[in-house]
Amino acid sequence: RAKQQGRNSFSFFTQSQNERSLEHLKLQSDLHDAIANHELHLNYQPQYDLASNRIVGIEALIRWHHPRLGVLGPARFINMAERMGLITDIGLVVLTQACHQASQWLSQGLEFGRIAVNVAGPQLLRRDFSDEVQAVLKQTGCPASALELEVTENFLIQNPDDAIRNLNQLRALGIHIAIDDFGTGYSSLSYLKRLPLTTLKIDQSFVHGISVDADNQVIAKAIISMGNSLSLNVIAEGVETREQAQFLAENGCEQAQGFLFSRPVNDSAILKLLTQQTDPQPLLQP
Ligand code: C2E
Ligand code: MG
Ligand code: MG
Ligand code: MG
Repeated sequence: RAKQQGRNSFSFFTQSQNERSLEHLKLQSDLHDAIANHELHLNYQPQYDLASNRIVGIEALIRWHHPRLGVLGPARFINMAERMGLITDIGLVVLTQACHQASQWLSQGLEFGRIAVNVAGPQLLRRDFSDEVQAVLKQTGCPASALELEVTENFLIQNPDDAIRNLNQLRALGIHIAIDDFGTGYSSLSYLKRLPLTTLKIDQSFVHGISVDADNQVIAKAIISMGNSLSLNVIAEGVETREQAQFLAENGCEQAQGFLFSRPVNDSAILKLLTQQTDPQPLLQP
C-alpha cells in the first residue's frame, strides 16, 4: 500500500514536471521561428533630465508577440535565447530595429538624445561585435552619437578583458556606453576607471530602497557620487514616486526613468510623447 502510494505520488510529480518541460520545449521551438515570423518588437521607455523634464534618451526594451500566449517580456525568454545560442541573432534584430527607429525620428526632426539598447553578454564577447554595430549604423543611417549600448555590471565583472577590448572599439566609434543595474555587482572604483563608460545606471533596487530606509539612502548617495566623480552621466532606473525623484535630484543624480514618467510604450505612443515635448513643465520643486 505504501509502495502503491509512493508510486502514485512519484508519477504525479513527474507528470507535472513533464508538462512544464513540454511547455518549455514548445516555447523553445517557437523562439526559433520568432525572428523569421517578425514576432519580436520593441517597446520604448523615455529617460528624463530631472531639472528640465526633457527627454534625454529612450531605452528600447524587447517584447515577444507570441501568437498563442500574447505579449511576453524578456524575463520569459532572454535566458532561454542565451542557452539556445539565439541571443546574438536576436540582439542584431533589436539593434537594427532600434537604430532604424532612431534614424526615422531624426529625419522627422524629433529630439530624443540617444537610443539605449541592451546588449547581452555573448554579443559583447564576439570578436567582430564593433564591426557588426558599425554596419548596422551605416545600414540604418543612425549616427553613432545617437546610440548608447547598455551592458550589465555583473557581466563586465565576469569577463573584464574580453569586454574591454570591444567596448574601447565601440567607444572609439562615438557610441555611448552605459553600465546597467549598477550596484548589484561589486565593481571597484579602480575597475570602473578602466572601462570606457559614459553612463552609470543605478539599479532599481537602490532607487526603490530610497523610500524604505536611511541605509539605502546612504548607498544611493554613494553610487551617485561615485558616478559623478568619474564624470559619468548618472541615471536612476525604476523611479516610481515623486519623493524618489526629488531625493535623487537633490543628491546630484541628473537623469531618471521609471513608471513615474512613463512605462515602456509602443512606437506610436512614444512618437506622441516625442512630438508633444515642445514646452515641458518642470516636475520637481526648485
Ligand atoms: P533593464 O535593462 O534593467 O530594464 C529595466 C526594466 O525595468 C524593464 O523591464 C522596465 O520595463 C522595468 N521598469 C522600468 N521602469 C520601472 C519602474 O518604475 N518600476 C518597475 N518596477 N520596473 C520598471 P523589462 O522590459 O521587463 O526588461 C527586463 C530586463 O530584460 C532588462 O532590464 C534587460 O536586462 C533585459 N532586456 C530587455 N530588452 C532586452 C534586449 O533587447 N536585449 C537583451 N539582451 N536584454 C533585454
Ligand atoms: Mg537596460
Ligand atoms: Mg537596469
Ligand atoms: Mg534591471
